Amino acid sequence: MKLYDSLRRKACRFEPIDPPRVTVYGCGPTVYDFAHIGNFRTFLVYDLLHRRLRQRGLDVQFVVNFTDVDDKTIEGAAAAGRLLDDHTAPFVDAFHKDAGTLGFLPFSDHPRATDFIPAMVAFVERLVASGNAYLAADGSVYYDVSSFGGYGRLSGKGGDDTAGRSRIDADEYEKGDARDFALWKARQPRDELAGAVWDSPWGPGRPGWHLECSVMVGELLGDTIDIHLGGEDLLFPHHENEIAQSEVATGQPFVRFWLHVKHLKVDDRKMSKSLGNFHTLRELLDEGYDPAAIRWVLLSAHYRAELNFTKEGLDEATAAIQRLLDFRQRVTDFAAAADTETGLAARAGEQLGAFGEALDSDLNVPRALAALWGLVRDVNAALDRAPGGIGPDDRTSILSALSAMDDVLGVLDLAAEAREVGAEEEDRIRKLVEARERARGERDFATADRLRDQLAAEGVVLEDTPAGTRWKRVHAAPASAR
Ligand code: AMP
Ligand code: ZN
Repeated sequence: MKLYDSLRRKACRFEPIDPPRVTVYGCGPTVYDFAHIGNFRTFLVYDLLHRRLRQRGLDVQFVVNFTDVDDKTIEGAAAAGRLLDDHTAPFVDAFHKDAGTLGFLPFSDHPRATDFIPAMVAFVERLVASGNAYLAADGSVYYDVSSFGGYGRLSGKGGDDTAGRSRIDADEYEKGDARDFALWKARQPRDELAGAVWDSPWGPGRPGWHLECSVMVGELLGDTIDIHLGGEDLLFPHHENEIAQSEVATGQPFVRFWLHVKHLKVDDRKMSKSLGNFHTLRELLDEGYDPAAIRWVLLSAHYRAELNFTKEGLDEATAAIQRLLDFRQRVTDFAAAADTETGLAARAGEQLGAFGEALDSDLNVPRALAALWGLVRDVNAALDRAPGGIGPDDRTSILSALSAMDDVLGVLDLAAEAREVGAEEEDRIRKLVEARERARGERDFATADRLRDQLAAEGVVLEDTPAGTRWKRVHAAPASAR
């Protein structure tokens, strides 16, 4: 498998240090609000990698944290007059629910930063003792960037870079060097209001954001991990600072592969509340969009390529998924004849191989999807000219190739679930379908058409066959949603 490492700036062959175990850390959500679909683009890339590593037989330890103490969470809690934990808990719950809705494999661990405060204090003590951190007059502790020769290797923003300087916080005038960053922040009145204050050898305060990830990585996965992920905005200064802290504290290389996901655009622009193109998953679901279609759209581009989210794209994804469900059904229902030889089993194996190779080329989803559609096209063409049926091996091979592809894409079962109809609902729909058939039998076409339209509005599509009318739920987005 090859993955693009942001540090070496090229795609490199990936082998875990200690196979079959593979250790992965992804920077998780800051729980001051609901995650938006941009966040979910990044988290879905985590899920894609998780699924592919697992499919390759690796024992994946995948940790994604909750940043539940930082400037934004404290500001939100203080403004709402709530304690930090009370403010963040609903957003943690919402994340778990949204991840389930989008079909994420459960990550191995979801630590909250606030559960690791003693380990964070101990980590800072080590950096102070080794002379890599210093105490400022106000009781904050800063990392001394000049003490680490490797600073700037990841981002190329080392020495006197002005991008670094522009980020100096007005509060941080105590710093010795503009690039230095807070490991421990002395208590502020706002922290007190939110109950975000812990004891330390330097007085009451709270951890800095960069420190949190370094400590959770070390505590849960070890000194050197295989893969670290995040959105592209985290490369600098967050990940640069994580390297600086961890490599000095452990004396070991911190991360073997750095992966960064390009930011999602919406309607060709940066997503922002003021532009009105800011979407949370919940809003899209309320508008009637299918979670599987949202998953499909957010995964469909290569993770380092631009992806522009539009509602038209969601409608196309809904249609693509329906094509796949119909395909699966067609193959399942197609007559099997024991002595038929179509060569489809071999073709399915080839396309599955191409699918896997594409994913192993730095998670190239567009190429993997081309293999998937190649399979659909070839099999459909063969079924069109196989009046005698296909062999049972062919059928099994096609369905298992499709299922293996979907083990990574994670859309088909999710979509089928969303289209499932309970017994009562099924009964009601069947009665409407029968009423329409009766109306047609009586040549009352106005009633028949009205019933068909009523069903279509609910996402139920009818197909008249010689054996009677069949129906299926397609869950197209309601027109009112656009
Ligand atoms: P946050 O909750 O702001 O800490 O972000 C959580 C994750 O989402 C981080 O890895 C961010 O880099 C990522 N992220 C934020 N905005 C976007 C976006 N528009 N597109 C893709 N990823 C994003
Ligand atoms: Zn992080």
